[in-house]
Amino acid sequence: MTGERISDRVPDFARRLLAWFDEHGRHDLPWQHPRTAYRVWVAEVMLQQTRVATVIPYFEAFMAAFPDVTSLADADQAAVLERWAGLGYYARARNLHAAARVIRDQYGGRFPREPEQLAALPGIGPSTANAIAAQAFDRPAAILDGNVKRVLARLYAVEGWPNATATARQLWQLAEAHTPDYRAADYTQAIMDLGATLCTRARPACDDCPFAGDCHARAEGRTAELPHGRPRTGREQRRRRETTMLLIRDGAGRVLLTRRPPTGIWGGLWSLPEAEPGAEEEAARALGLTVRPEPPWEPLEHAFSHFDLTINPVPARLQESAGLNSPAGGVMDGEEGIWYNVATMERPGVPAPVATLLARIETDNEVET
Ligand code: SF4
Repeated sequence: MTGERISDRVPDFARRLLAWFDEHGRHDLPWQHPRTAYRVWVAEVMLQQTRVATVIPYFEAFMAAFPDVTSLADADQAAVLERWAGLGYYARARNLHAAARVIRDQYGGRFPREPEQLAALPGIGPSTANAIAAQAFDRPAAILDGNVKRVLARLYAVEGWPNATATARQLWQLAEAHTPDYRAADYTQAIMDLGATLCTRARPACDDCPFAGDCHARAEGRTAELPHGRPRTGREQRRRRETTMLLIRDGAGRVLLTRRPPTGIWGGLWSLPEAEPGAEEEAARALGLTVRPEPPWEPLEHAFSHFDLTINPVPARLQESAGLNSPAGGVMDGEEGIWYNVATMERPGVPAPVATLLARIETDNEVET
């Protein structure tokens, strides 16, 4: 911490935060009613990299499809991924499914209550485990998600990237020191709400903040600077990748989708066959298909967390098929594929940019007919 000391520790932090929460916090999020461990867990995992407003419709659809941990454990991974399609970071969905199976098989379908047991489940780190224990079981357990890191880093002007070991340790100590031994569920929601609604990344609403008079970052005019971003070396640049996606249509205007391998980017989702630039016909031949490529469409940009992907879509007409003849689908050289009718079939789980391309196909088909 640097600068003039306003106070060593914000006095009465939990009580003041809870008073603010009672009046201004979020009390009607879908996972708060009812606030079961299963619902809190699914919400916490969805919220790990996604904003509340985006998560809500996905959460509701997910609960309708898998109302409890056993129904999730019993489902096929493909069905789970289908419900996740569009949320991104698909490892979260695969871990959720794997953890549901552990809870069904090792805990008889009942959620473990100890943060250590929760943290041992796939995809649940210490902060998520504590968030579940606090919100579902009212256990006083400190959390340190992105919102809480931002609030504490600003309140105490904590230097360093919050995920660097020494900084994270300091923030955990602050988080633990502030967590009260009463109203654990509300306190957890309250500190997340403060970060999400007032102490936002850009332009925090300091004038409305109950800690405006205690905050080091505000007093020092450093709210834009804190918390610090990840240090980058001079050589470090965001990686860029490029791929060609084939939009192969048969005589009925159906488009070929193939299933991606279960692990890796978009693991287990349906996608379009890919090809090296200029090698579209060879890529189709590898699937047992003869195609006639057409002029490429406008490229599509898609940002992943660690790289940017440029997708070059190449439409192609099916001339002959030695592999995938069945209208419902089939297997070609070990690859799973379906001829997908964009106008009449329910869309399987596809990544967001593939959904965009399928929408373009639908428009294109309509223009042709
Ligand atoms: S005063 Fe501003 S920067 Fe400080 S905790 Fe409140 S909202 Fe965040």
